[in-house]
Amino acid sequence: MPLDVLAVCAHPDDAELTCAGLLLRAKAGGASIGVCDLTRGEAGTRGSAAERDGEAAAAAAVLGLDERVNLEIPDGAVTCTLENRVRLVEVIRAHRPRLLIGPYWEDHHPDHANASLLAKEAWWFAGVGKHPGRGAPHRPEAMLHYMSRYQFRPSLVVDISEYWERKRRAAACYRSQLHDPDRGEPETAISAPGYLEAWEGRHRYYGSLIGVDYGEPYLMRGPVPIGDPMALAFGRRAML
Ligand SMILES: [Zn+2]
Repeated sequence: MPLDVLAVCAHPDDAELTCAGLLLRAKAGGASIGVCDLTRGEAGTRGSAAERDGEAAAAAAVLGLDERVNLEIPDGAVTCTLENRVRLVEVIRAHRPRLLIGPYWEDHHPDHANASLLAKEAWWFAGVGKHPGRGAPHRPEAMLHYMSRYQFRPSLVVDISEYWERKRRAAACYRSQLHDPDRGEPETAISAPGYLEAWEGRHRYYGSLIGVDYGEPYLMRGPVPIGDPMALAFGRRAML
């Protein structure tokens, strides 16, 4: 189906932990939203691919995703090959999003950094008619990068205050990944006690930069195009 917004993510749970607020807010405004997970997360320290499939489906229901596809690239081996690019080009051409979202290109997890490059290349080549891959050429009008571990100075911060609680509930669907002392599996950064508090703190910090309770930071490679300059005056005093 046609989508207005498509987020490209390396692993199931990436969207919920990063750009879910933007997706929820776009959906509330009438947009159709989707996520393309590149892998099933089967190489993760905790949980199994089957478990994560179920968690991703539950989280998709919480977010109200109109589409969630998985390219089943091997986890831990997201690479920018022509084969992988063609598969992502076909997803973009099939769903024709106006806004494409991908990870920031610097990250401690190589899958995230490679997913960023793959998303950018697919964004461009989806619009090139002679590039291999089924579907009519289509290039999303804009591409934004979300923040995983490494920080950047954001081009913009989206006010997600109204959607924070649902974002938190969607992330909580990934029970295999989050803190659970009864599971007896090795601890990861995400499963450490206190991770969710720090995660919430980060959203509060970026919200504070624009004078709201919760915010998601995004980076755009070029300047952010603004049509109506009054869109900048959105009823809150920016904390600049
Ligand atoms: Zn990830």
